Amino acid sequence: MQHALSKLPNTGTTIFSQMSELATHHNAINLSQGFPDFDGPSCLLKRVDHYIKQGNNQYAPMIGIASLRQGINAKLQRCYDFQADPDSQITITSGATEALFVTISALVHVGDEVIVFDPAYDSYDPAIRLSGGCPIHVPLLPPNFEMDWDRIRNAVTSKTRMIIINSPHNPTCQTLTSRDLNELYELAEKHDLLVLSDEVYEHIVFDGQAHQSVLRHKALAERSVVVSSFGKTYHTTGWKIGYCIAPSHLMAEIRKVHQYVTFSVSTPMQYAIADFLQETPEHDQQLPAFYQRKRDHFNRAMSSSRFEFTATSGTYFQLMNYRAIQDTTDTEFALWLIEHAGVAAIPISVFYQTPPTDMRLIRFCFAKQDARSTAQPRNW
Ligand code: PMP
Ligand code: GLN
Repeated sequence: MQHALSKLPNTGTTIFSQMSELATHHNAINLSQGFPDFDGPSCLLKRVDHYIKQGNNQYAPMIGIASLRQGINAKLQRCYDFQADPDSQITITSGATEALFVTISALVHVGDEVIVFDPAYDSYDPAIRLSGGCPIHVPLLPPNFEMDWDRIRNAVTSKTRMIIINSPHNPTCQTLTSRDLNELYELAEKHDLLVLSDEVYEHIVFDGQAHQSVLRHKALAERSVVVSSFGKTYHTTGWKIGYCIAPSHLMAEIRKVHQYVTFSVSTPMQYAIADFLQETPEHDQQLPAFYQRKRDHFNRAMSSSRFEFTATSGTYFQLMNYRAIQDTTDTEFALWLIEHAGVAAIPISVFYQTPPTDMRLIRFCFAKQDARSTAQPRNW
């Protein structure tokens, strides 16, 4: 029998599937994998129904339907004062996951080094390796997980091709500052690097902050691919509709890959989102207050526990330190929490190549109905 010679010998099943399956198995409250337990806006759902019944059920154009690309462009102008050409600089993808994968596949060559920041969202590293690239993991360290620019500069070599950033950051829940973007720009300019900016939580930032999109920094945007997802913004993670924005010469290469990975993505959903984007621009502006209330509700309930935490600055996740409860690894603690207390969370160390010793953090998702995120755990 011919055995597969693995291209990803050290890669297992993603932690998100593992923890959600365990949550189901133990009938636990699932605060692990990041998804809302409530629906997107009802007018958006009705629009999908409308477009299905109206017969919009065949292939969409490869780059995405025009009205959706135009709607995204209007949003970029409104939010970031950024003007893209919808025909050559915006592509609709199967979630942010596909946008990240096709960008890396199109732009990373064999032997290229790509800098990622640990704890890193788990799809970056395998995508780089599948392209023959070499991920260079630069750690961000607790408690604040700030960018250490001296360390980052030292990680750049003559082989560095790309830097992948993620703000608001999953799973540290930190956000980049405009100073970080200036540092990044200087470094990218000096070494002629590409930037891949994962901004899926762009509208989930708290305490009055403004999201520092790479698109606000016009010179940096000229060497960047920006990725986002309607899954996060419209509470529709299961629809897998995302998009990327890039200068035309980069986008032409990205589309060469996208056309053979998915070709195009769900037609009725693209039409529905295009309508919603045009008719309800205030949805994005209301999202910070919507999730900040959920964050505060969750944290108020947790304040009577022995978990220690600082309120998250972005994303719909909250990190909690469990050192006052148990002195075990985060994976052991997460398994104990599911089995003993009936609550599923995500350990953080799995997102590091080399986890910091004695890190005692787990991640909870608070994108839940109030009663669910603060339900009483078992045996607590
Ligand atoms: N990047 C980050 C940082 C994420 O947290 C996620 C998923 N939650 C994605 C990308 C993937 O987004 P999508 O579900 O749209 O593929
Ligand atoms: N991004 C989501 C999270 O961080 C999970 C997405 C997935 O399951 N692939 O929980």
